[in-house]
Amino acid sequence: MMEAAQGVCILNVDDTDAARYVKSRDLRRAGFDITEARNGTEALRLIEQYHPPVVLLDVHLPDISGIEVCRFVKRRWPEIMVLMTSATFTTSFDRTMGLDAGADSYLVQPSEPLELAAAINALLRLRRSEDKLRELNRTLEERVEARVVELAEANARLVTEIEQREKAETALVQSQKMEAVGQLTGGLAHDFNNLLTAVIGSLDLIKLRSPDAQIQRLADRAYKAADRGSKLTAKLLSFSRTHRLSAEPVDVNTLISGMRELLNQSLGASVSIEMVLDPLLPVAMADTNQLELAILNLSINARDAMPDGGIVKITTGLSRDPGAITVEVADTGSGMSPDVLARAFDPFFTTKPIGKGTGLGLSQVYGIARQSGGDVTLASEVGKGTTVTLRLPRATDSAVARHQVADSSIESANSERILVVDDDEDVREFIAGYLPELGYEVQAASHGDAALTILEKFTPNLLIVDFAMPGMSGAELAVAVRQRYRRMRILFLSGFADAAALDAAVGTSPFLRKPFRPSELAAAVRAALDARLRE
Ligand code: ADP
Ligand code: MG
Repeated sequence: MMEAAQGVCILNVDDTDAARYVKSRDLRRAGFDITEARNGTEALRLIEQYHPPVVLLDVHLPDISGIEVCRFVKRRWPEIMVLMTSATFTTSFDRTMGLDAGADSYLVQPSEPLELAAAINALLRLRRSEDKLRELNRTLEERVEARVVELAEANARLVTEIEQREKAETALVQSQKMEAVGQLTGGLAHDFNNLLTAVIGSLDLIKLRSPDAQIQRLADRAYKAADRGSKLTAKLLSFSRTHRLSAEPVDVNTLISGMRELLNQSLGASVSIEMVLDPLLPVAMADTNQLELAILNLSINARDAMPDGGIVKITTGLSRDPGAITVEVADTGSGMSPDVLARAFDPFFTTKPIGKGTGLGLSQVYGIARQSGGDVTLASEVGKGTTVTLRLPRATDSAVARHQVADSSIESANSERILVVDDDEDVREFIAGYLPELGYEVQAASHGDAALTILEKFTPNLLIVDFAMPGMSGAELAVAVRQRYRRMRILFLSGFADAAALDAAVGTSPFLRKPFRPSELAAAVRAALDARLRE
């Protein structure tokens, strides 16, 4: 069967008219298109022009020999198939010459018409598969290049991903460490708080009751020590998440101006203090005492970084991200190496000698920032100085308004009844011992069930409940009590309670943080009794 040869153009080169005519005729019959050339020069011109897939080339030509034409074609267009033909050069030597010159096949003439067409078809098949191979080679390079680019991109992505993951892991480890230490310190501080509440309360009572001047002095000294202890637990608690900060609207400028005296004393004469306070600073939302402590901590760090003196600059302003108040404490001190900078917030991390540093200063600052819903960042350069930027949220207008109203007075009671419930004996006895001195009638219970029993005979005007108690928690007791007395006023005591849990359970109820001083207890009780219970 003949293969379809439609449209394939063959160049037929032969100087003998008859022989050329016969070959052209036979091939046209087989379906090929034919172009003819009578000599080598014409053949090369046509090849250049038409680039035929197959050239039928007679060996004997008048100008250039077919062998030379073949060599030239194969050098210049290796993809063109050359079928040599000859009626005169028919020996095996002639055929060898032709094939060595690069011809793809050699056919002695005259041949059968079908044989000529079959030979050409065979060459066309070869040509097609060679074309495919060439194409494959060409695109292979492109494909390899594209793949290399792809791989490079994937690699770059991988590297960034790894970097990001490493960063995230470092941050995670850091926050877990902070969390763990926070829980530990929180637990310890809780116990200390209860002890200190009892100690401070009892000392106050000793002072109230003893006219002896020496006892007064001793009590004062003990009181000062206890007060330092309670500041330390406050530091620990403000770092640990279990401490509930009482966020309130704070005029940060006034707070800082008010610290000038304190800072002058603490920083010494060789350090000058500059304050650049934004006159239009909005009111911030934070725990006033904690914020003051944070600014003091930062200033003391600045002082420690400037043993030969320098400048501490405290700047307030509004951060670009609207809604945040910034407090910046900058020094011209030693700065921190990247190593120290990376660990500066770690609780208990200090580079200072024993007795000079606790490593809790920046932890406290970190704690107040995070718990106020703000943040804190450090920028430091060795030899140049350090800038700490504390960002605090703005207070809402309604919070400011509420704050101004809640200016409660301390009045004495007219025999109002109070039930105090606390599992800690010292705290309970202190409250039960102190409040009657103010004229209140007090009963005490050490757990929720006991309180509910007492409530069957004794209806108090106020319930003072410790938030964290074993068994029935303060919040559960509150729910149980309010089932019977819907309008019962409740004052929660909390030294140790997850801020979120406390918020969820207590809501808008007032709370008093341990350790508290008798005057604070008195004020909180009065305020709770005077406040209208919101329904
Ligand atoms: P402490 O001051 O008790 O060492 P901090 O938590 O306040 O603990 O600070 C931790 C460490 O961070 C310091 O020991 C000090 O190395 C470094 N640091 C803190 N503030 C500064 C500062 N302003 N300049 C230089 N180093 C500082
Ligand atoms: Mg410090």
